[in-house]
Amino acid sequence: MIDSIKQLKKHLNLTEKELSWKEGPQSLPVRITDYYMSLIDPTDVNDPLRRQCVPTAAENKTATLEDQDPLKEVEHSPSPRFIHRYKNRIALLTTDICAQYCRHCFRRRFTGNLLGPLTEKDIQECCSYLEKHTEIQEILLTGGDVLTLSDSYLHKLISSLRKASPRLVIRICTRMVAVKPDRITDSLINVFKSFPEAPFYLMTQFNHPRELTEEAVKAVAKFIDAGIPAFNQTVLLRGVNDSADTLEELCSALVFNRIKPYYLFQGDLVTGTETFRVPLERGLAIEKELRTRLSGLAMPVYAADLPQGGGKVPLCGSYIEGKDESGWIFRTTDGQTRIYPDPQE
Ligand SMILES: *Cc1c(COP(=O)(O)O)cnc(C)c1O
Ligand code: SF4
Repeated sequence: MIDSIKQLKKHLNLTEKELSWKEGPQSLPVRITDYYMSLIDPTDVNDPLRRQCVPTAAENKTATLEDQDPLKEVEHSPSPRFIHRYKNRIALLTTDICAQYCRHCFRRRFTGNLLGPLTEKDIQECCSYLEKHTEIQEILLTGGDVLTLSDSYLHKLISSLRKASPRLVIRICTRMVAVKPDRITDSLINVFKSFPEAPFYLMTQFNHPRELTEEAVKAVAKFIDAGIPAFNQTVLLRGVNDSADTLEELCSALVFNRIKPYYLFQGDLVTGTETFRVPLERGLAIEKELRTRLSGLAMPVYAADLPQGGGKVPLCGSYIEGKDESGWIFRTTDGQTRIYPDPQE
């Protein structure tokens, strides 16, 4: 594992911009797995994988309206370790530790602060909340990265959650399969298999086709073969995947490997991440182009999580141009016009 600039220098010839990154109390630590480092081309300073894990001076800048917590997660937290933003689902911040830190991380107010796993008391607090709020049907085990926790810890955590709410659907939100696929052992999978009463879903974060290596695909397959469906959330990142060609390749490869592209996220207004954000107009043009190239199965929903805790909204140009006496006027994906009338009686 690489966890300092000094170690990073042993692997890569750092550029001026990378060398001038200043570590501060608010900054996300450097942490790159040996596996992920082996995927980086050291001769390419613009390598899209390098860009996701090597910090640059751009992180030291706070752009207009950027905030440590743009989604106002803290306001929606009944306890510091879980967020109840949407009525029927909650996000549990199981740990703030990740196997590797992403420079585009949207939860950097929390991630990498070395708080560690939920305590017994935190877990009990979440469980009593679940018992009281029976409208909650799904829980997102997130963080940080939930799969940095040990198998025995996970077993204990899931037992408690399932006891509090037996039909709770559990989403395992993780980047581990992309950054340290050998964490996905048979004994980890057995932890999930030992709770057959309600479903698990695997939520991955693959941002570039080169992250879908044979090892990564095998790691995801272990979940799928155990009956856990896999969905992917990609972050639209400037200089990483902001082209229809790259995203077409990524989404097609995901589908081929039984992973459903779920969301393509517009970058949140998080402090120090402006360098990764793609102008909305460009994002919408990429979405439009992808829609003509990809199958419905391969097409993710392009979405933004709005500032000041506005929540998620889908981003997509409208295919409805208007309405007249003959009916609704539609634009087809290749720019033609069609009329669709409402029922007459
Ligand atoms: C994104 C998110 C969810 C899940 O939303 P879906 O649209 O169902 O994937 C739940 N809670 C929080 C706080 C979120 O940010
Ligand atoms: S794995 Fe997730 S929580 Fe961890 S640094 Fe990356 S984006 Fe942030």
